[in-house]
Amino acid sequence: SLSDRLTATFRNLRGKGRLSEQDITTTVSEIRRALLEADVALPVVREFTAAVRERALGEEVSKALNPGQQIVKIVNAELIEILGGQARDLRFAKRPPTVIMLAGLQGAGKTTLAGKLAKWLKDQGQTPLLVAADLQRPNAVTQLQVVGERAGVPVWAPEPGNGVGDPVAVARSGLAQAQDKLHSVLIVDTAGRLGVDAEMMAQAAAIKEAVQPDETLFVLDAMIGQDAVATAQAFLEGVDFTGVVLTKLDGDARGGAALSVAKVTGRPVLFASTGEKLTDFERFHADRMASRILDMGDVLTLIEQAERAFDQDEAERMAAKVAGGEDFTLQDFLDQMQQLKKMGSMKKVLGMLPGAGQMREALENFDEREVDRIEAMVRSMTPQERANPKILNGSRRSRIARGSGTTVTEVNQLMERFEQARTMMRQMARSGGKLPRGGFGP
Ligand code: GDP
Ligand code: MG
Repeated sequence: SLSDRLTATFRNLRGKGRLSEQDITTTVSEIRRALLEADVALPVVREFTAAVRERALGEEVSKALNPGQQIVKIVNAELIEILGGQARDLRFAKRPPTVIMLAGLQGAGKTTLAGKLAKWLKDQGQTPLLVAADLQRPNAVTQLQVVGERAGVPVWAPEPGNGVGDPVAVARSGLAQAQDKLHSVLIVDTAGRLGVDAEMMAQAAAIKEAVQPDETLFVLDAMIGQDAVATAQAFLEGVDFTGVVLTKLDGDARGGAALSVAKVTGRPVLFASTGEKLTDFERFHADRMASRILDMGDVLTLIEQAERAFDQDEAERMAAKVAGGEDFTLQDFLDQMQQLKKMGSMKKVLGMLPGAGQMREALENFDEREVDRIEAMVRSMTPQERANPKILNGSRRSRIARGSGTTVTEVNQLMERFEQARTMMRQMARSGGKLPRGGFGP
């Protein structure tokens, strides 16, 4: 996988200076491969990797990350930005009804989405009306009626059998009905063809003209892959749209279409459709999509946690403190334990962190609840006891045990471990800041 390949190219360099050309070249070429595998359109990949390279060249080497990780982090941030960051909300009309029109190829998932959106809006207290403006296929109206029934939302459709074949007229009368019956939202389902054609575009544009939507949503099948860009461009020119909805994200498409379309059209992705059920629907999350496109969720998680937990500065500060003759206190010990607890959740991926071998050993037998007990015991000590644990005689220890809901045995164990850690910290200070084998901790 990409993660494995990248991990193999990660090097242990950390410290001052800039990211090197070579680090950037290696990592960016892996990223490029990942984007192409995710079906991101080639021109988008080119432009994107060039931008990343540019940005990476100016960056200082991070203390928490190695260069490969750092570049992945830049890539991820750029992806999220292009994908629109926080998904924006639907824009509601100042005067209802808010009109939402759906456009897209046949089979993209418009009718299904119409039902999902209707239900979602209804659950928020809106009173939607669905309009069946797809008169292309004989059963299209029935399909929307079924969907509407499931969502508990009324459907406006042409009278059956009276030969009405004008979707523009249906859309217009649907709008009148919504105004008349005070529906707060009107959702207009339209027809699509298997491929883009002029007649379909003209029809969609005419419906749009007739109902003047507040939002025109381009519905796109995420499985469409490399065709996404051409299709989106055709709809942008033919109908224009204000937002994108990606469907079939429950499939195995890596979601490159999202990136291509967002980049090429500049329109945000608002929603994601993730199945055939009415509830398989959510606001679009750019961060999740970015990690899906990169297909390296584990590396991204590692990066995030490494930055949060592997606080090099903190370790240096501690070493400097001990080296400077100040002693290692129970509070420091507690801080270390909490640091380890934060890292506890990254046990699995810790192997990827350069130099994390010792730390991983320490984490193998690490019990997170232990930290809570230690914290309770330290909190139960007086400031004098924390500063000078030598004074902890038997009666003080049993008071601490009572106060922290632990036993005297546990307090004794804590003190033993604290003494070991203190000895280790002193050795560490003498050896110039290096952790002795075995690390600190339980
Ligand atoms: P339309 O032609 O654009 O109206 O597309 P439909 O709403 O009729 O959907 C076409 C097919 O795709 C139907 O079989 C739907 O059940 C299915 N479908 C729609 N959205 C999704 C989705 O998010 N996931 C999956 N797995 N299937 C979907
Ligand atoms: Mg349909």
